[in-house]
Amino acid sequence: MTEPMTGDGTRAVRAGLPPSDPYAPPLPGPVFAAHYHLPGDPAEAPYTYGRDGNPTWTALERAIAELEDPGGAAQAVAFASGMAAISAVLLSQVRQGDIVVLPSDGYNLLIPLRERLEGYGAKVRTVATGSREQFEALEGAAMVWLETPSNPGLAVCDIRALTEAAHRQGALVAVDNTLATPLGQRPLSLGADFAVASGTKALTGHGDILLGYAVCRDRERADTVRHWRKIVGAIPGPMEAWLAHRSLATLQLRVDRQASTALTVAQALKQHPEVAGLRHPGLPDDPAHALAIRQMRRFGCVISFTLPDQAYAERFLAALRIIGEATSFGGVRSTAERRGRWDGAYRDAVPDGFVRLSVGAEDPEDLVADVLHALAAARAQE
Ligand SMILES: *Cc1c(COP(=O)(O)O)cnc(C)c1O
Repeated sequence: MTEPMTGDGTRAVRAGLPPSDPYAPPLPGPVFAAHYHLPGDPAEAPYTYGRDGNPTWTALERAIAELEDPGGAAQAVAFASGMAAISAVLLSQVRQGDIVVLPSDGYNLLIPLRERLEGYGAKVRTVATGSREQFEALEGAAMVWLETPSNPGLAVCDIRALTEAAHRQGALVAVDNTLATPLGQRPLSLGADFAVASGTKALTGHGDILLGYAVCRDRERADTVRHWRKIVGAIPGPMEAWLAHRSLATLQLRVDRQASTALTVAQALKQHPEVAGLRHPGLPDDPAHALAIRQMRRFGCVISFTLPDQAYAERFLAALRIIGEATSFGGVRSTAERRGRWDGAYRDAVPDGFVRLSVGAEDPEDLVADVLHALAAARAQE
């Protein structure tokens, strides 16, 4: 692309679009094809079989690469879900005997993934995001996984410092960029080898598709991840890929609005004595704020806090009238859930009254009123 592309809003609305040919649509529709006309030698063919490539993915992958690495040469590989992307990067890069460092407080499916990696003969260390031990665990590592801000605890770690230390050990570094989105944080420009994310959350933001991606500047490494996608077949549907690309046009509008409203809602929650452990990286007195300001460009739409106990949190959630009780986050419709209601690792990872609140695109004053009303209702029923 030769045209000048500067601001995030301009980049988001134009990312991955084809040249403006007369009478062509700005964003071509989804291509549904299990196979393509393929005469002769397939070696040079851009599209052969539907599991290997699709023009709708290609456009989306260009768009994601432009957002994660503006002006750079990164390659993106789109997946059927965030977990497909995470599994592809870990399982395609890690070898038997490798030391892998994972966050102990990251996305909950890293726990079964850890067991899988150990089953394949890797040695896995887990460390809390943002802790001193995160540096100590790097010794001899081959692969380091960072998730910042972490879901659901919203801990932040220093991508640049950890990446420099990890690279001195010869390790690769991957960053789960789900919560921040590429407009909130650019792991590749902070030195990471991979930015990996669930596009199910804020990236696409409408709560209607599952999607994932991995981005990497090294072409051969990107090819190994793409090859893994082909082997396991974890491919996005063309319709999902197209909907995702369509959603990117509003990414800057959504993340700006949602981040600013999240800060307003967090500040309203702060006034209440029954709200403990309030976290949002944009809050000036959040323990992670100083670091977040250095490496993030927007602070995301997630707030976490702890109410006195499970029953209190359940009363709060039941009393909400606009904010829906649901899992996931990042969508235009606000949602909240008591994280400990899930089985297994979730239950032990957070206090019983822990609530993750995802701020959508509703009016800030409506959301503040909803939250304050629900807190009052939960208190009144004590
Ligand atoms: C949701 C999530 C994932 C998994 O993504 P899916 O699209 O649900 O597979 C991975 N990492 C983080 C941080 C997430 O929030």
